[in-house]
This record gives sequence, structure tokens and C-alpha cells, in this order.
Amino acid sequence: MPLTVRPRRKRSTRIVVTLLSGLLPIVLGSVILYLQAERTLQQSSQHTADEALRQFELMLDNTAQAAQELLPLAGQPCESVKLALREQVTRRPFVRSTNLVWDNNLYCSSLFGDYKEAVNPGDYTHGMLWLMNGNPVTPNTALLVYRLSEGHGGALTTLDGYHLSNVLRLIGRQTLLVLQVGNFWLSADGKVQQGALPALPVAQSRLDSSRYAFTVAAGFPAGETWRYMSNEYPPLFSLLIFFGAVSAAIGYIVQKRSTSPSHEMHRALEAGEFIPYFQPVVHGDTKKWSGAEVLMRWNHPKEGLVRPDLFIPFAEHSGLIVPMTRGLMQQTALVLGPLSSTFAAPFHIGINITASHCRDLQLVGDCREFLAAFAPESVSLVLELTERELIEPTEITRQLFAQLQAMGVKIAIDDFGTGHSSLSYLRTFNVDFLKIDQTFVAMIDKDALSRHILESIIELSAKLELGIVAEGVETQAQSDYLSARNVNFLQGYLFGKPMPAADFIDALSHH
Ligand code: C2E
Ligand code: CA
Ligand code: CA
Repeated sequence: MPLTVRPRRKRSTRIVVTLLSGLLPIVLGSVILYLQAERTLQQSSQHTADEALRQFELMLDNTAQAAQELLPLAGQPCESVKLALREQVTRRPFVRSTNLVWDNNLYCSSLFGDYKEAVNPGDYTHGMLWLMNGNPVTPNTALLVYRLSEGHGGALTTLDGYHLSNVLRLIGRQTLLVLQVGNFWLSADGKVQQGALPALPVAQSRLDSSRYAFTVAAGFPAGETWRYMSNEYPPLFSLLIFFGAVSAAIGYIVQKRSTSPSHEMHRALEAGEFIPYFQPVVHGDTKKWSGAEVLMRWNHPKEGLVRPDLFIPFAEHSGLIVPMTRGLMQQTALVLGPLSSTFAAPFHIGINITASHCRDLQLVGDCREFLAAFAPESVSLVLELTERELIEPTEITRQLFAQLQAMGVKIAIDDFGTGHSSLSYLRTFNVDFLKIDQTFVAMIDKDALSRHILESIIELSAKLELGIVAEGVETQAQSDYLSARNVNFLQGYLFGKPMPAADFIDALSHH
């Protein structure tokens, strides 16, 4: 029966978890990069609006100064002031034309000299600025008119839209930048439009001038954040993809590990899937049942019944063998304890113990608990220690085996003949039985050397006054041979295979 510990998670779930763990850093990282890009664009639009505002104020300062110098001349005949008007145009770089007003009538202009045109102060935002789309001289050319008035007199100075749109173009560059005066606005293409500003859905900044009646608005078109990210962040995106791949790999490995044999065995231990099977041990002479060896089986939900040699090595490796053995002893006590009053002579119960169970004194407690489930003197607990895995004699083990002996617990050396236990080893651990390995029994009718070894073991145990158990007795010939040599106990398929508790109890009542 092969033990392939099948992953408990479905393949599709594993793929989804792997994908998610790969996507998580990419999505999180992208969100962070997106927020960072938004912040950068916001700062850039704020900075651009600031800069444009400063430039427009400087230009308007220039225009306003011309108006201030001309205002005292308002009311004087045009003929006598028109040179002064023209001088301002010449002297000031941003001033395109200058005009004088009396009683809301423009009467003198730097362009035409004497002139007549009504002035409507309502056209000017805060009575100060009017952004117009050209005048009769230059239609469709933006013009910003600055108005200064005092009493009957007034001065109008104009700023060429060309300068304004230049600023919008040069400072704005990638940013959409708009100059707004009242209900009119000017964009970098030099056109004045009326009504709502163009949409600036990304990183919009609006700044009002504190000195002149205008506003600057900056921002970006829709989708600018992604465009910015794809231009600026490719190296960071590569890094994110790398992290995603690493995270996916970790996710995959962690899932694999979580379905590792030791994890699977943890689960099985909690689910109570390790159960005892019982194989009878008979007296060498009468062939009556003298006891049983408890053999562990894994009742796996998918694999069915699993042989111990397929999972005991994992259990030892992961340190689970101790709780597993403890569980086995508790289950054995639970099923056999209630029958103990019917046992005529002490019933031998063999439990397989690994060396790792002998590193501390916990085993004493485990055995005490086990024996407490039986009527006094009704059972003889035999701990089977395999010869292949010798126990190191230390102060702790000496103490352990002394205490076990004091409790009446017996020690058997399992698989005897396959390892290297010495006489002193047998003495140190107060050994009571030797269990001859089944390979020697199997060779009884085939191989003279095995027979020879077998006979030496039998002789040795007699000299050391140790009980002897022969394992793997399958044929009548083997049984006869061993009985003839006074082997105390026999175990093997000839007398009974390992069986579940219910079958064992049932069979026990017939013996
Ligand atoms: P083991 O202690 O030498 O147990 C005897 C093994 O021989 C058992 O195999 C038993 O089923 C098998 N056997 C008994 N009679 C015959 C026979 O006539 N012919 C043949 N061919 N085999 C026979 P099983 O139950 O598969 O156990 C294998 C090994 O797993 C055990 O060898 C023991 O070393 C280990 N094991 C079993 N249960 C436990 C346990 O609870 N704890 C520990 N630490 N080891 C265990
Ligand atoms: Ca054994
Ligand atoms: Ca054995």
C-alpha cells in the first residue's frame, strides 16, 4: 500500500492562493505608486499656478504703473497729452496702448490721438480688469485692459495677450494652465473664451491674485496619473513584478510545506487516525495466547490502512512518535482495561517504544497511567526497544529504567540479532525478553547459518535467564522447531495476524 500523502488543498485552490500572493505586492505597490504620482502631479500643478500668478502680477504691475502716471493727465486736451501717452507705450515693455477717460468717455488714445468711445465700468471685473478678445485694431487677439479711475478722470492701459499666452505656454508646458478674469478666460493657444473653464480633472489648483482681479487655474487632463506612471516608473514596476514573483514563490512553497508529511501527521494525530492493531503472542509449549503485541496503523481517510514502516520514520523525524505512542497506549488501555478481570494469568501487552521516548522520565507516567486502567497483576506491560536503535546509557535513562522496573514494567529487545547490543547493554536496561528477529525464523528450514545464530541466541538467553520470543512464525515446521528448543513465546501469522481491537477481543474470548 503506497503512502502518498496527498495534498489536502485542491490544485485550483493552490493556484489561486499562489496567484493572489503574487498579485498582492503588485497591487499594493501600484496603489502606493499611484498615490505618489498623484502627489507629484498636485505639487507640480500648484507650483506652475504659483509661478504663472507671479509672472502675471509682474506684468500687471508694469501696466498699472503706466496708468498711475497717466491718471493725473486725465481731463487735459488730448493734443497736449498724447505724447505722454505714447511715451508710456514705448517705455514699458508690456504696455501696448494707453488711453485717457473723462466722465466714462475714452477721449484720447496712444494709437489714434483724439478718439471717442463710451466706457462701461461694468465690463471690468472689480472695476479694474477686462480680458477681451481683441479690439477694432487687432480683432481676435487677446487683450487685457487695466482701468484706473478717480473722480471724473480715468486711465486705461492694455497688456498684449501675446505676452499672456506666452507665459501660459512656457510655464505650463505639460500642465494645462488658464488665466481667468471675471467670466472670461485665456488658454495657452491665445484664445479668449467665455463661460465655464475647461475641465482639469487631475490635480487641479486654483490661485486668486491678492492684488489684481484675476485667477490662475492649473491641472491635467483625465488619465494623466497613469500616463505619468508609465513614463516615470518603469524601473519601479519591474521591481514590483520581481517582488510579486518572489511572493508567489513563497506562497507556493508555504502551501507545499503545509501539506508536508509531518503536517499531515499532526492533523492525523488530532483526528485520532492512529489506531492499535493487536497480534497474539502464544506460549511456546501449549500454544495458548499469552498476550499481544500492539502494532500501530494509520487509518488514513483517503489511503485506507497504512503500514507503520511507511510513516513511523516520519513520526520519529518530526518528534510526533512520542504523542502517537502515548495515544496508542491510551486506546489500548481503553479497549483491554475493561476485560482485565477475565485474564487468568498476567496478559502480556507489548508496546513498541523508540529511543526518543526514553530521553526523559515521561514514559514512567505514561506506563503508570496505562497500568492503572487494568486490574492489579492482570497485565504485564512489555516495552519493545528495537536493537537497531540502541539507547545511550545516561543518568536519566538509568533512572528511567530503574523506575520502570520498580513498577513491574518489562523490557524486550526487539529484532534481536540485527543490531549490536552487548551483554552490558542488556544488563544496564534490565532486559527481560529477547525477540528473535523474523528473518532468522524465516530461514529455519532453509539456511544452516541462520539456524546456528538462532541456536546461539536461544542458548544465550537461557544463560542470561531471559525470556525469548520468536517473531514471524508462519509455518508449522518453524513452530515445531522453536518449541523443541524451549522458546518461551511464539508470534506470527501461524497463530494470528495483527487485527483490529474488535476482532481481537472477539478472538480472545475463544482462547
Ligand atoms: P516489529 O515490532 O518487529 O513488529 C512485527 C512486525 O512483523 C509487524 O509488522 C507484524 O505485522 C509483522 N509480522 C508479524 N507476524 C508476521 C509473520 O508471521 N510474517 C511476517 N512476514 N510478518 C509478521 P508491522 O505491524 O507492519 O510493523 C512493522 C514495524 O513497525 C514493527 O516491527 C515496528 O518496528 C514498527 N511499529 C509498529 N507499531 C509501532 C509503534 O506503535 N511504535 C513504534 N515505535 N514502532 C511501531
Ligand atoms: Ca515489536
Ligand atoms: Ca521485530
